[in-house]
Amino acid sequence: MLASAVAMTLLLIVGIGLFANTARKRWALMQAAQAPADRLTDAGRRAANVLWYMFGQARMFRYTAAGIAHAFIFGGFVVLGLRTLVLMARGYTTDPHFGFWIFDDDAPLGMAYLFLKDIIGLLVLLGVAYFLYQRLVARPGRLELSTEGVFILCMISGLILSDLFYEAGQYIRESEGALTFHAVTPAASTVSFLLAGAPPSAGLALGAIGFWMHTIIVLTFLNFLPLGKHFHVITVLPNVYASDTARVGLLRGIQEIEEKLEREETLGVRTVQDMSWKDVLDLYTCTECGRCSDHCPATNTGKLLSPKHLTMALRDHMYAHEDHLIKLPRKPSTSTAEEASTTEDSGVYTLKEDEKYQLSPGIVDPEVIWACTSCGACEQECPVFISYVDKIIGLRQHAVMEQGTFPDQLQNAFRGLETVGNPYSFANEQRAEWAEGLDVPLRSDKPDAEYLYWVGCSPSFDDRARKIARATAQLLKAAGVDFAILGPEETCNGDPARRAGNEYLFQMLAQQNVETLNGYNVRKIVTTCPHCFNTLLREYPEFGGQFEVIHHTDFLYDLVKAGRLKPQHEVPGRIVYHDSCYIGRYHGIYDPPREILRAIPGLEVVEAKESRSRGMCCGAGGAQMWKEEEPIRREGSREGDGKVNHARTRQLLRVLPNGAPNRRIATACPFCKTMIGDGVTDQGEEAVDRRDVAEYLLLAVQGTAERATQAESST
Ligand code: SF4
Ligand code: SF4
Repeated sequence: MLASAVAMTLLLIVGIGLFANTARKRWALMQAAQAPADRLTDAGRRAANVLWYMFGQARMFRYTAAGIAHAFIFGGFVVLGLRTLVLMARGYTTDPHFGFWIFDDDAPLGMAYLFLKDIIGLLVLLGVAYFLYQRLVARPGRLELSTEGVFILCMISGLILSDLFYEAGQYIRESEGALTFHAVTPAASTVSFLLAGAPPSAGLALGAIGFWMHTIIVLTFLNFLPLGKHFHVITVLPNVYASDTARVGLLRGIQEIEEKLEREETLGVRTVQDMSWKDVLDLYTCTECGRCSDHCPATNTGKLLSPKHLTMALRDHMYAHEDHLIKLPRKPSTSTAEEASTTEDSGVYTLKEDEKYQLSPGIVDPEVIWACTSCGACEQECPVFISYVDKIIGLRQHAVMEQGTFPDQLQNAFRGLETVGNPYSFANEQRAEWAEGLDVPLRSDKPDAEYLYWVGCSPSFDDRARKIARATAQLLKAAGVDFAILGPEETCNGDPARRAGNEYLFQMLAQQNVETLNGYNVRKIVTTCPHCFNTLLREYPEFGGQFEVIHHTDFLYDLVKAGRLKPQHEVPGRIVYHDSCYIGRYHGIYDPPREILRAIPGLEVVEAKESRSRGMCCGAGGAQMWKEEEPIRREGSREGDGKVNHARTRQLLRVLPNGAPNRRIATACPFCKTMIGDGVTDQGEEAVDRRDVAEYLLLAVQGTAERATQAESST
């Protein structure tokens, strides 16, 4: 007993001591990242997220087979944790059935536990076999053949097998030649029967091998975890707890931007120091499962951007410079920043660091950060709640506001936003021209109107999108809604500027708009554009704008349900709805647009295989509307010519077979209408009608049948 106690103590001291040293460095790295991240409030909701997404493995099941296999292994970890403690404790006792008394092998709870452990051990082996098959044989595109992955799977099997050997060895040793089957541990008993006839000494040896093998594997495993992707075994709980409580795409603004500009402080993300502790925790937690890249429109059209590889590149860089990064002193607080020296030698945060610590360009190619559409698909898919959009926009902020390096075409949009309040550079006085002849009141003439219809730039100036604004206004009038518009007093909500990294310009527009809206005491806002909807609802509160914001599809559906709009005229045909990321994934608005279409007589609503939360982006978000797409850079692009809108349009057209009369596509975003419209035209499918949901509803309410059977031609 003394020998085993000494051996166990030495193993624990070495194993846990080495782990503590690595963990200390990982902790220090998190502290080296100094952007703020307020992720510890709202404890109840966060705890519920941990229960549902970590212990319930909810997101894992978006890939059914992998989800089941992972649930087996995860369950094994939870159950076998106690077994490991029990075995370690047995190193200090002569009682081979010790289990902290209540879990002793012959105690009722101990027997129940042994049974559970035995069964779950088999399920873990099944799970491991599935993942080995995936990595070594099936090899789906999202997974690379990783030695680390295979090694870890072997270690997990080793944990289970060592415990089986230990248990079976005990049975052989105690049987004294009369082996009996122990129903409480069927798997271990079966192993013991495979060695039936072996002498008790063989049982003793097998038990000892199993016992020490188990402990050594556990401690090796523990030390291996922080070195690679299996660190998630430890970090997933805090990472899920501290994840965005918004669905996806929550952005980190820049606080006190004016003051920072005056002090020439770094804007955006230049080095790891400009990230937050949560960003670093994200990087620790990536399991390299590739689900994010599997659904990324940029990856799938051959762009350089692959969210999984972006994470891996940032993590590798961080680990490579770990020693330097953790030695850097903290940034000075805002109040002391002006007095602070900017040299590393002075012991104060180094403002202008060595080029090798710069993330982009350098570690991350600019094409990677500019290819993102901010669609949120990666964040929706990631089983461990890693966020991407804020990291990418942080890198863009630095490129735009510090380096002045960004795609040329964005210059026009920035100039238009800055000088006339819209990215098209139209005179803002023309904002209400879309409403000509509709008798839509201005807020200045009707300051008490219950709703403000926030039109947005595209529906104000773009001919195709103007039809959406006209249809929406006509429907609101038909339903007797008391509303007004701002007209020339409205400017862009700032989304394109913010997503393009021009946070300064965004904040200027946001402050101006909030001032205008609060000046009119606006409380309820209906928007046509999902980007306006998201910004006004989610991002304006930071600037003092607290509004009830409703997307037009949600609002119109309520009017249909209330009987205030009656879609009684037939619109014949088969229709597929394209989900907009900024109302779908960002806000969970999936059903209202579909329900409106279903309420229209004559329409057969069909679903694309890629729909709802799996719907692919049209390619316009994240300021892509205002720039050229990045070129194809990777082999094996699954979606042909590298254009996101073409790829998405093909997905939609698959459920509208050629030759069928009245094929239709519905959208609920002016940018989606443009992108999908162009996609349809580019593929020579002009016969396919494409309109906003509001336009279809108007056809059904007004009964303009001849228009309903004619495909929209003004693409
Ligand atoms: S937000 Fe969309 S485009 Fe950007 S990385 Fe994620 S999946 Fe790709
Ligand atoms: S970021 Fe999430 S989805 Fe992407 S590879 Fe890592 S764990 Fe998987």
